[in-house]
Amino acid sequence: MFKTSILFTALLSAVAFASVSAAPVQTEGTGIGKHGEIKLAVTFDNGKIQDIKVLEDHENKVLAAKVFTDLKDAVIANNSVKVDGIADATFSSKGFLNAVSDAAKKAGVKLSDQAKKAKKADAAMPAVQNYDVVVIGAGGAGFAAAVEAKSKGANVVLIEKMPTVGGNSLISGAEMNVPNSWVQNKLNIKDDTPARMAADTLKGGDFKGDPEIVGVMTVNALPTAEWLRDTVGVNFEKDNVFQFGGHSRKRALIPEGHTGTEVITKFSALADKMGIPVITNMKAEELVKDKDGRVVAVKAVSADKEYTFNAKGGVVLATGGFGANAQMVKKTTDAPGTTGEALYMAEKAGGQLVNMGYIQTYPICDPISGVIELIADARFDGAILVNQEGKRFVEELERRDVISNAILKQPGAYCYVLWNDNIGKISNTVKIHDTEYQAFTKQGIMHTSDTLKGAADFFHIPYANLKATVDRVNQMAKDGGKDLDFHNRGGLKDLSTGKYYIIKAVPSIHHTMGGVRINPKAEALDKNGKPVPGLYAAGEVTGCTHGTNRLGGNAYTDIMVFGRIAGEQAAQAAKATK
Ligand code: ADP
Repeated sequence: MFKTSILFTALLSAVAFASVSAAPVQTEGTGIGKHGEIKLAVTFDNGKIQDIKVLEDHENKVLAAKVFTDLKDAVIANNSVKVDGIADATFSSKGFLNAVSDAAKKAGVKLSDQAKKAKKADAAMPAVQNYDVVVIGAGGAGFAAAVEAKSKGANVVLIEKMPTVGGNSLISGAEMNVPNSWVQNKLNIKDDTPARMAADTLKGGDFKGDPEIVGVMTVNALPTAEWLRDTVGVNFEKDNVFQFGGHSRKRALIPEGHTGTEVITKFSALADKMGIPVITNMKAEELVKDKDGRVVAVKAVSADKEYTFNAKGGVVLATGGFGANAQMVKKTTDAPGTTGEALYMAEKAGGQLVNMGYIQTYPICDPISGVIELIADARFDGAILVNQEGKRFVEELERRDVISNAILKQPGAYCYVLWNDNIGKISNTVKIHDTEYQAFTKQGIMHTSDTLKGAADFFHIPYANLKATVDRVNQMAKDGGKDLDFHNRGGLKDLSTGKYYIIKAVPSIHHTMGGVRINPKAEALDKNGKPVPGLYAAGEVTGCTHGTNRLGGNAYTDIMVFGRIAGEQAAQAAKATK
């Protein structure tokens, strides 16, 4: 949090005084954020920023919230764009700062080259606090655990190290595999079962996942999805389910807007309503055990001050993966909070880590930021993948690891996703992800053309090759859709007419499969398979569900099911010790 009020008041009086001599000017500036253009109206008075109004933005409401409050205040207070951006909204921050620079340039104003160091907030919070349940990490698993624990009567706190909540759960597509869902029923998909989903999941992870854990996940998927819908208030699309790679049925529910924003915003509101304190900028650093070896507290740090959160019933680790650990990862789809230090904490407290070597890349990501290209989800409805030579090279609905590896073997280690309006009218991604569409087009990594030649020429793909590829796809589509070359399990679709949409894509680190070993009660296990008393874990921080490779749409099922179980178990343990 930036401390700006005094500076701001001083600035305002200076402005008021100065404004006698010159009238304020207002100019508009634009910058590209993470999801499209950020347009601002900036008012300058005597060379100083007086006010910034947001005219247009498409940023993630939760993640970028502080860009439009804290960052704005910092820019005004310092009369400079040389201020630190918001840690987990780097692209939004950059877009905002560029928009201010642009407006300043138009107004002929030279901003300051130096910013005063922003002071950290010193919270007037007690250094020692007592709860029944302490949940670490405010992503999907953490919110599910906290809400469930609270509804079972526990006094619970949720601590989050980043300035904003949500973790990877917020920025993901948030699709959730649920066999027998109400949407499957409506679409007449009647033969799906938890056992079928479990079989797909285990096979997709090369049988390295724990069958018992996978069983608990799939059996609880439906009641958990109903809880999300009815208790948390999440809106899911009513007539649409996805079939991700490796799944034998279309079974992934899709939240409104196709991102985790719908889920995390609803969770935040519910946590507020239930009176669950959610403390951001609070990093858990150590699990404390009593003399009997029970985990009874969490030591955490905020703004260089230490805090102890006592947990009578237990501590729930819901800290996500380690996909943003810079030592391991260059480009990542993950939120910056996913650095995995909680795994060391768990190990130090006696927890066993399993499957740590399995790290998943997501094959279709923005070559600039590493973020998933949701617009390219047209792949699930028939978009094809081609390389720089205009040739297909892999089944488009293969597992993520297989597609990623195949892309990395292509010239330049990238590929293109190509589809047309025929496919677009089913997947509708250009419309749903309009802001991505605008931004990617502007950045030159996506192109729309009435003709296939236009699509090929834009990216210097040999047209003759691309035409031969597309002609062959069209022929197979005409013959019933059976893919004789790469066996696309969804069948091939006709690509003979425009408009054509083509986007460049690279694989990027997405999910870390390994982590804390748990049992079906979400209790963390030690190396002998015995529960570490007082320690629970749920979500990406755990390591037994996905084996070598997580299937699309299984993360949300996993984090929600085990988040709830962990919260319930810890609440029960608190009651037992009352
Ligand atoms: P999941 O999908 O398992 O819920 P997410 O990535 O969505 O995982 O959420 C995990 C959250 O935990 C992130 O918001 C991350 O910033 C937070 N986190 C990670 N490590 C710590 C820590 N040491 N202390 C507090 N919060 C943490």
